[in-house]
Amino acid sequence: MATSTSWAQDVITCDLCDKAAQQFCNSCQVSLCDTCVKKHRDELKSLPHDIVPFLDRTIQVVYPECQDHSGQRCEVNCKKCNTPVCIKCIGLGLHKGHDVEELTETHENKIRKIKSDTEEIQAKLIPKYHKEVVEIGKNISKTKSKIDHLGKKSKKLRKLWHQEVDNIFDKIDSLSQSLTEKNLNALQEHHNKIRDLISEMHTIVKQNEKLFKSNKLSEVNEYQSKLNEYQDFPEHVDLEMPSLRSNIDQGKEFIIEIGGYRATLKHISPPSPSADVSRLTIGIGKLTDQVSVIATIPTNYKPLFGVACVGEAEAWILGNNKTIKRIDIHGTVRDTVTTPCLQYPGGISVTRGRELIYSDIFRGTLNIVRHGKSETLIITQQGWRPGRLSCTRSGDILVHVFDRCPFFSGVDTQTKNK
Ligand SMILES: [Zn+2]
Ligand SMILES: [Zn+2]
Ligand SMILES: [Zn+2]
Ligand SMILES: [Zn+2]
Repeated sequence: MATSTSWAQDVITCDLCDKAAQQFCNSCQVSLCDTCVKKHRDELKSLPHDIVPFLDRTIQVVYPECQDHSGQRCEVNCKKCNTPVCIKCIGLGLHKGHDVEELTETHENKIRKIKSDTEEIQAKLIPKYHKEVVEIGKNISKTKSKIDHLGKKSKKLRKLWHQEVDNIFDKIDSLSQSLTEKNLNALQEHHNKIRDLISEMHTIVKQNEKLFKSNKLSEVNEYQSKLNEYQDFPEHVDLEMPSLRSNIDQGKEFIIEIGGYRATLKHISPPSPSADVSRLTIGIGKLTDQVSVIATIPTNYKPLFGVACVGEAEAWILGNNKTIKRIDIHGTVRDTVTTPCLQYPGGISVTRGRELIYSDIFRGTLNIVRHGKSETLIITQQGWRPGRLSCTRSGDILVHVFDRCPFFSGVDTQTKNK
């Protein structure tokens, strides 16, 4: 039994007013109350209206009115023009001879198509899209966690890199400290030595003053002169002050050097334009690992057998002839020494006093050039020939001597240079 509410819901109202519908126009598929039947016929006067009691209504397609023939409903569809047409259109009008089909058939075909589309969308496309949504969701969270991971890793590496840079500067600080301390110690030692000698000399002066007046023969007789010792003034300390060199090409390269230590920070961009990732490398190396050209000086010597620097701007050079030349950094000849060697000197070097020395292989002598003239400094032991030379900082000369063939190493002889 229907409740009063459900009964109220079941009441069909007139499509033109709000009253209950008792009639139905099958042609227009509208519900009508008794009062509105006339109004409906009057509104669409040209068309026929199949009005029946509401309970006898037939659900059917509403045929549209023909645009060309007033009072005619289109019951067929012109297949050629794909438009609804009336009987007059086919018999007399524009669509004479055109292929037609029942409008209901067209309608059914359309409904079938709508149904199959809906089915395909519901059964296949929506699930497919849903699957994609899930995949994208997974990718988003994967990408987010990747960003997170990279961020954490970079943070860790940042710490390590900073630590590495700190290590480099710690090393530089300790190197510069130890190098300067070394200098300071040497200076201090020299300072003390000189002061000790001064007080020693003061003592001697006092003792000597006593001796002037002494009449004790034995005391005066025992006097030993130390003058030679004091005249030989203690050598100055050779200082090697460390310098901190740095070359900064911001965004590209950082280089820092001290003593034999070198650290570099390089920023390398890959050549491919698509990859905007840059690589950063830290390199630490010893200066001694590399040979770099600091200047190119032209000489006519080919081959160039020997070079001995005189200060920082000049050098003696040796080729395969008897003449040794002194050139400046532009290659201009400043001085020439012609040796009495048979072919060419075995080696050259420069003493601490900036005097040129050279070896004469066949005569077996080491010679020093003073005021443009060669003086024999050392004669090597019989059978040994002198080759390459090197003057040491302490004032010694290191000589490579050989028996017969210069390619066999002989013994090294050290001789005091005076
Ligand atoms: Zn009607
Ligand atoms: Zn009505
Ligand atoms: Zn028509
Ligand atoms: Zn047509």
